[in-house]
Amino acid sequence: MTTLPYPAFPGTTRTCPHCTATILTSAAVCPACQRYVRLDPDRLARLTSPIFCPLQVEGTIRHPGIAEPCEYSVLVQVQNDQGEIISRQVVGVGALGPREARTFTIRVEVVTAEKSVV
Ligand SMILES: [Zn+2]
Repeated sequence: MTTLPYPAFPGTTRTCPHCTATILTSAAVCPACQRYVRLDPDRLARLTSPIFCPLQVEGTIRHPGIAEPCEYSVLVQVQNDQGEIISRQVVGVGALGPREARTFTIRVEVVTAEKSVV
């Protein structure tokens, strides 16, 4: 765990030292592994939870009932307001056997971006 200055530009990223996920530099807690990634006692309490969650989608898929196992890829794509793709990643892959199911959750957490105080 390290103490880092706040980024001058909103959206600046870094790598989580615990799980190597790409996270916001301003994050106090990694959204992927839920571990603390920065020491900042004055702002830690506010930054440990998102200000709001404007999108959360959850769904379950089941094996279609055929004899063979099936494979799946979980693709997440982010587009800007002009429709341009700014991020497209496969975040998980796996297989489904007969009578198996998987539940997927996509959650967008939004926090206020603040300018650097350093
Ligand atoms: Zn992490």
